[in-house]
Amino acid sequence: MLTVQQNINLQSLNTFGMPAHAPFFSVIRSAADCEQIQQLIPEGYPVLPLGGGSNMLFTQDPHAFILKNEIKGITLVKEDEGSVWLEAGAGEVWHDFVLYCVEHGYAGIENLSLIPGTVGAAPIQNIGAYGVEVKQVIESVTYWNFDKQVFETLNNEACNFGYRDSIFKGALKGKFLVTTVLFRLSKVPHFNISYGNIKEELEQQGITDLSLKAVSDVVIHIRRTKLPDPAVIGNAGSFFKNPEVPKATYEALKANYPAIPGYVVSDTVTKIPAAWLIEQCGWKGFREGDYGVHQRQPLVLVNYGQAKGEDIYRLSERVIASVKDKFGISLEREVQII
Ligand SMILES: Cc1cc2nc3c(=O)[nH]c(=O)nc-3n(C[C@H](O)[C@H](O)[C@H](O)COP(=O)(O)OP(=O)(O)OC[C@H]3O[C@@H](n4cnc5c(N)ncnc54)[C@H](O)[C@@H]3O)c2cc1C
Repeated sequence: MLTVQQNINLQSLNTFGMPAHAPFFSVIRSAADCEQIQQLIPEGYPVLPLGGGSNMLFTQDPHAFILKNEIKGITLVKEDEGSVWLEAGAGEVWHDFVLYCVEHGYAGIENLSLIPGTVGAAPIQNIGAYGVEVKQVIESVTYWNFDKQVFETLNNEACNFGYRDSIFKGALKGKFLVTTVLFRLSKVPHFNISYGNIKEELEQQGITDLSLKAVSDVVIHIRRTKLPDPAVIGNAGSFFKNPEVPKATYEALKANYPAIPGYVVSDTVTKIPAAWLIEQCGWKGFREGDYGVHQRQPLVLVNYGQAKGEDIYRLSERVIASVKDKFGISLEREVQII
């Protein structure tokens, strides 16, 4: 039953643990709920879909109708010799979906184990980890368009996926709610263990017989040791994107800072780990009151308890300014600021 609640505290619904209040709040459990809720939202009033709240920073009460997505279900749509096509409800927990695929022998997202959040949010910023991006397995994304009041489906190409980016963060922002995502997964695994320390960890654990479960377990283990658990310390994962700079800029920086890491994106573009830049500016482990920069992972800004959204935001501004000052590079935020 679709109900509208008012003045709902979102503190337990965002991983930073910010106590923002939603003026209007509804839980969406089916595609039909989208059509129904449209009738209850005043014309022109902004909507804000909410999944697991793991990529958001509330700096104020949102002036929006919050739509908490809980559309569930995983359906095998079709299969052939090498692939399966699975349609997943946008409100499925991402990690549960990964585990479902691992258990059924469907390969392609095992490296994306333990990323918080929902299936429906995965295409928004094209989630990625350990050398894999979700765009590699997305066939299409279906959403309710609040402007046109219709369901629309975009195929992979039309989603304009980029590094932590898609059409959903651009032209379509604030106008849609993802209801289902169609994935194409492989029945034959193509293991990708070269990124991060997956290979070393597998060796250390004496695993020579690769399986989807072994890779997923190792990724889970590495993430648990490297990243703060939002259930213990409020955070939204990487706060900043890794900057991509012209190769010439990278080479000039390397002349001054020989240890600067860089990953080739193309013949002309190099990606620099933001964590390294932030650490060089002395922020790693910084703490002031209840907000700070995580001690193990400088890309992660944290709320130790009572920090406010503005505290975290202002800290991000200071980090950005110091990186710009030292390296001439403008960091971009990955987290959605509300
Ligand atoms: C500890 C930690 C580790 C993380 N590690 C990674 C990582 O390795 N790689 C990575 O890419 N990300 C990572 N993240 C970020 C986060 O997990 C992802 O961005 C995730 O996809 C967010 O999902 P969510 O459901 O919580 O989205 P939310 O935070 O609820 O929403 C994020 C944005 O998507 C929109 N949105 C959500 N659902 C819908 C929908 N159904 N329809 C339309 N818009 C929607 C929201 O309005 C908002 O703009 C990490 C976060 C944490 C806390």
